[in-house]
Amino acid sequence: MSRSRTAAGAGRRRRRLVIDAAGRASLARQVRSPNRDARPAGEAVTLIVVHGISLPPGAFGGDAIERLFTNRLDPAAHPYFASIAALRVSAHFLIRRDGRLVQFVPCGERAWHAGESAWKGRVRCNDFSVGIELEGADDVPYAPAQYAMLARLVRALWKRFPGADVAGHSDIAPGRKTDPGPAFDWVRLQRLLAPRPR
Ligand SMILES: [Zn+2]
Repeated sequence: MSRSRTAAGAGRRRRRLVIDAAGRASLARQVRSPNRDARPAGEAVTLIVVHGISLPPGAFGGDAIERLFTNRLDPAAHPYFASIAALRVSAHFLIRRDGRLVQFVPCGERAWHAGESAWKGRVRCNDFSVGIELEGADDVPYAPAQYAMLARLVRALWKRFPGADVAGHSDIAPGRKTDPGPAFDWVRLQRLLAPRPR
C-alpha cells in the first residue's frame, strides 16, 4: 500500500494533480500570460525543461516573477528590473519556495521560456517543451517542497505526455544559460520520480 493511500485511509486525502486535455494543472493557481502562442501543427510535447528564477536575482518572495511573465514588471522598482522589463517571456509553470504551483500558459500552447536552444539535435525547444520555473538561484539549495511539487508535476505531465525527457535550461542552452544551477539536485529528483512499490 502506498503512502498516499495510507494517508487517504487516515482521512487526509491529498488532492490529485492532474493535467487536463488543454494542459491545465488541477492544483495550480492560473495566471494568464499573454506571452504565448500556438505550437506548430501536430507538435507533441517531448521535453520538460527545469529552470530557476528569482527577481531580483537571489531575492525570494514577492510578485516580480508573476509581473515579468504578465508584462507588468515596473522598471523603476529595482535597478535590475529596468534591464528585463521589456522582455516578453513566460513559462508554463512556476513553483514557489513553499511548493505552491502557479500556471501561466496551458501546456497545449507554446510558452516563451527556452530561447535559443537545442535538444537531441532539434532546435527551438519552445516548440516541443513544457517549461517549469523553480523560484531559486543557481547556488542556493532548492526547497524540499519544491522538489516534492516538481516530482508530482512531472508525473502528472508524463500521464499526458508519456516519455517526455526532463532537462535543465543549462542543458538545452549550454554556454548561454546556467539555471537551474549546481544547487539543483538531479539525483534527488530522479529518486522522487523512481517507480514506487505498490
Ligand atoms: Zn531558464
